[in-house]
Amino acid sequence: MDLKDKITTLKGIGPKKGKVLSEHGIKTIEDLIEWFPRRYEDRRRETPICDVKQGKDYLVCGKVISRRQSGNPYNKRAPLSLLINDDSGMIEIVFFNGKYLSGAFNVNSKYSFYGKVSENMGRMQMIHPEFHQYGEKGDIRGIIPVYPTIEGISQNEMRKIQAQVSPAIESVREWLPENIVTEYKLADPVFSLKNIHFPKESRYVLMSRFRLVFDELLTLETGLIYVKNDNAAKKNGIAINTGRSEEFINNIGFKLTEGQTRVWSEVAKDLESTGVMNRLIQGDVGSGKTAIAEIAMYVTVCNGYQAVMMAPTEILAKQHYVTLTEAFREYNLKIGLLCGSMKPADKKEVLDRLGTGEIDILVGTHAIIQPGVKFNRLGLVITDEQHRFGVEQRHRLSEKGDDPNIMVMTATPIPRTLAVILYGELDISVIDTMPAGRKPIRTIAAHQEDRGLVYDKVRKELVKGKQAYVVAPLIEESEKIDAKSASELFAELQKLFKDYKVGLIHGSLPQEQKDAVMDAFVKGEIDVLVSTVVIEIGINVQNATVMVIENCERFGLAQLHQLRGRVGRGNDQSFCYLIINNETDIAAERVKIMCESTDGFQIAEEDLRLRGPGEIFGTRQHGLPEMRISDIVRHADVLEKAKNAANSLLASDPDLRSTDNAELRNRIEKMFGGDIRLEI
Ligand code: ADP
Ligand code: MG
Repeated sequence: MDLKDKITTLKGIGPKKGKVLSEHGIKTIEDLIEWFPRRYEDRRRETPICDVKQGKDYLVCGKVISRRQSGNPYNKRAPLSLLINDDSGMIEIVFFNGKYLSGAFNVNSKYSFYGKVSENMGRMQMIHPEFHQYGEKGDIRGIIPVYPTIEGISQNEMRKIQAQVSPAIESVREWLPENIVTEYKLADPVFSLKNIHFPKESRYVLMSRFRLVFDELLTLETGLIYVKNDNAAKKNGIAINTGRSEEFINNIGFKLTEGQTRVWSEVAKDLESTGVMNRLIQGDVGSGKTAIAEIAMYVTVCNGYQAVMMAPTEILAKQHYVTLTEAFREYNLKIGLLCGSMKPADKKEVLDRLGTGEIDILVGTHAIIQPGVKFNRLGLVITDEQHRFGVEQRHRLSEKGDDPNIMVMTATPIPRTLAVILYGELDISVIDTMPAGRKPIRTIAAHQEDRGLVYDKVRKELVKGKQAYVVAPLIEESEKIDAKSASELFAELQKLFKDYKVGLIHGSLPQEQKDAVMDAFVKGEIDVLVSTVVIEIGINVQNATVMVIENCERFGLAQLHQLRGRVGRGNDQSFCYLIINNETDIAAERVKIMCESTDGFQIAEEDLRLRGPGEIFGTRQHGLPEMRISDIVRHADVLEKAKNAANSLLASDPDLRSTDNAELRNRIEKMFGGDIRLEI
């Protein structure tokens, strides 16, 4: 068995299972070995039956004293019920649809069972436990790995597969330089891989996990720092004269906030230098990131270059298109729009004008990464709401120019310490002030039975000529089903607000319809916009002063904050009503935080505390490669160490050309896929 062998060479993995596994990135024996358990069940000690409590998992061992197939014995679905006892007590084991198991147990023989204990009319039960003949080979006792769920492959199957490939681990060689192994006290890779799957002792798990997390984070950090150094080393970047920024700023219609001024000066410094700008602009919703983008685009165009701005959705791209057209009208700049849904003829026209250099600024969606899109002289690449884009997409966009400057804008508030690590390849600027005159949004929680009162308040705003958003409950992660709930709400509100125009938007509508609805809302032709979360990001309608979120308990904190950020964008007092339908503790806490704070960074910290890191900082979401074993938040301490090690490795071998670092280079390429080319 070789590490590079295909998994389909294994016993028990045919084409069907092979396909399921490969969908999870598992194609070779090596991939399997790197499919790490998520946690372990400690089944070393058996619990005397009298000590088990309901709701927890236990290992119990005992003799079968009775075996009963209840119901009609010819019915395959008839449950099988066993009574088990040890020296201390008795417990019932139940298998529904259990007929197929009736031959598996002999009365008076001893078995081990592992599962959750429940109580049924005063009697302790285990339903569908794992079981095995007591003391036989393959007993379910020990420290048992629990793998990430893969539909179609049971835990037991995965354990058997892992046991099967275990011998192949022997051929793994130490791949890190000796000084790093010694300095960070790393366990041997063979030991670590063996013990992460089938630990002999629980302390071995800790040693092994440390080693493997270190490996993964070292690979990540080395890759990120490599890209960053590589960018910094590019001396042939474009130097932009930013002198004309003043005329634009003086004419922008408001006074830049302190935060905007500082961030602009940081951006200007990058632009002026001959290095390549690679900067992340973080700022809470409504902090005015677009203004910074506009100034940067303006000076870039004044220097004879083109600029491009990529947004994650068509709605957002179109909105930017309108805003920029407006902002640059009197400067006579030509703005172009490119979206996937445009007619081929329209696309072609834009592409032609882009190629000749007639268009100064292109705005669009992913469509602008396509190979056919060619610029004349691209000098600045901006991506908005960056967490929807990956490292790779950014690379592809910047390759359309000759090392253009890069600016990435995000409203996802990430605690700064973490951002430094996450965006290792980017410099970071934070707009930490809000435009003056903004009144903090008033957030009010209401129970389901008070919905009527909430909509009375909405009417009050409508009477004043203001507009409202109503977000329909998030039913599940399916736009189709969410759309249905939005449609029902729409029908209800149409009746309620007969004298007003109510609109509906959701993700399953055809693009043109979505655009038409958004357009009408922006123009004020729609008073109440019912929507699913499609409006979550970026939309800017200053006349909208009310946000109603139905079934707010369905949304996470960060999401609620983003949604709320759609209002309060002008100078009028805005309101956010959170309607609670099902008040769990966590929902109550979220609502409390929302009512007390409008600070995105604080909310992000609270979100982290309530939900745990994995969910929010899902690495995919941030455009980083998927991690197998590490969690950048939970393993922040290891990350710090890995970063130091990465720096020292790159200091002595900047291009990772030495044969000692060949395996590290392989790992980086595997982790980042096409995103990183380590030139050899
Ligand atoms: P975001 O950071 O969420 O992208 P925008 O750039 O869309 O925010 O700005 C939100 C609104 O605030 C826009 O209407 C913009 O014109 C306005 N704005 C931006 N900066 C200022 C400022 N310094 N003073 C007043 N209004 C501002
Ligand atoms: Mg924005």
